[in-house]
Amino acid sequence: MNAGQLSRHARSWYGLPVEIVIEDDYWHWVKAGPVPLPHPPVVNLIVRHGLPREARLKLSYIHEMGHIQTLPLALVHMAWVWKHRRGRNSMSWGRRIVWFGLFIAVHQAAWELAAESYVFVHNPGEYKQLYKETGGHPAKIFWLLMTLLAVLGTLGLIKRNE
Ligand SMILES: [Zn+2]
Repeated sequence: MNAGQLSRHARSWYGLPVEIVIEDDYWHWVKAGPVPLPHPPVVNLIVRHGLPREARLKLSYIHEMGHIQTLPLALVHMAWVWKHRRGRNSMSWGRRIVWFGLFIAVHQAAWELAAESYVFVHNPGEYKQLYKETGGHPAKIFWLLMTLLAVLGTLGLIKRNE
């Protein structure tokens, strides 16, 4: 393992063995059991903008671990939205495709939010301190956009008083 690289085997709380490799800003690699999960490090790239390299790699690693740890939560959210989806039979095909696209986007936003919350909860003091030093504007934008997309998106996808 070279100086800046983080590579670790871990086990999720529900028993899934994982391997996470954070090589640099552009190369992340997560393997859950035998299944490789391709995960574009876009979020890590944006949210870690301006942080020192060491901190970037470390927080990126915890973020990827957060994805694994919060996977059941993300699946429960997905299943709940699916169960309460609006217009089960009344939507045209065009609208169904739009609905499904939004469904995937909202699921991703909720999962990103869960993974990054995991990073925050892991060490709130360090998280706040690091971002205080850099201003943390990209991170603030991330939190705001992901929260809006996850909350408003979820409300938009489910039926309320149909
Ligand atoms: Zn992520």
